[in-house]
Amino acid sequence: MDNQVRRAVYPGSFDPPTLGHLDIIQRAAQLFDELIVAIAVNSQKQPLFSLEERAEMLRECCTHLPNVRVATLEGLLVRFAQQAGACAIVRGLRAVSDFEYEFQMATMNRQLAPEVDTCFLMTHQQFAFLSSSMVKEVARLGGAVDAFVPPNVAHRLRQRFAPETAGNFHP
Ligand code: ADP
Repeated sequence: MDNQVRRAVYPGSFDPPTLGHLDIIQRAAQLFDELIVAIAVNSQKQPLFSLEERAEMLRECCTHLPNVRVATLEGLLVRFAQQAGACAIVRGLRAVSDFEYEFQMATMNRQLAPEVDTCFLMTHQQFAFLSSSMVKEVARLGGAVDAFVPPNVAHRLRQRFAPETAGNFHP
């Protein structure tokens, strides 16, 4: 591991990225020298957006954060972290319901790679009940998602579910 640079990996599906994810990214980018936002390839899930689309959306949201980069993550997370020279995995914690799964995963990852610690950041209260699946459901049913996702993501969702209302996106 590179001792000079404190590097962390923030893994997730980001299908699509929400303001909750962005809040965690921004805060983790302040805590670490470098943050790799790693989009997980999950064969069990049928994503709405392709890996490339999710990477593009995340990059667009992070242009103001020079120490953040976006990558795709295939295979074992701890191996990815080790290969990237990361000392930590960042995860966001929302309601209590996140805890059991996150605790299980962090414990397993510690067994696999004790040198990579897991760092949990509590969500801001306003994003505590925000999830990508909820956002997709609202967008699919024609609701406004602007309060939940960055403008570029809201635009993509409109393009996907209501192309006639999407118009052009100007950042
Ligand atoms: P996964 O499929 O790995 O749960 P997600 O994209 O749903 O991927 O979430 C990635 C990470 O971001 C997880 O640690 C999750 O708890 C966190 N997260 C998701 N939504 C929020 C939110 N609204 N506030 C804070 N953290 C969040």
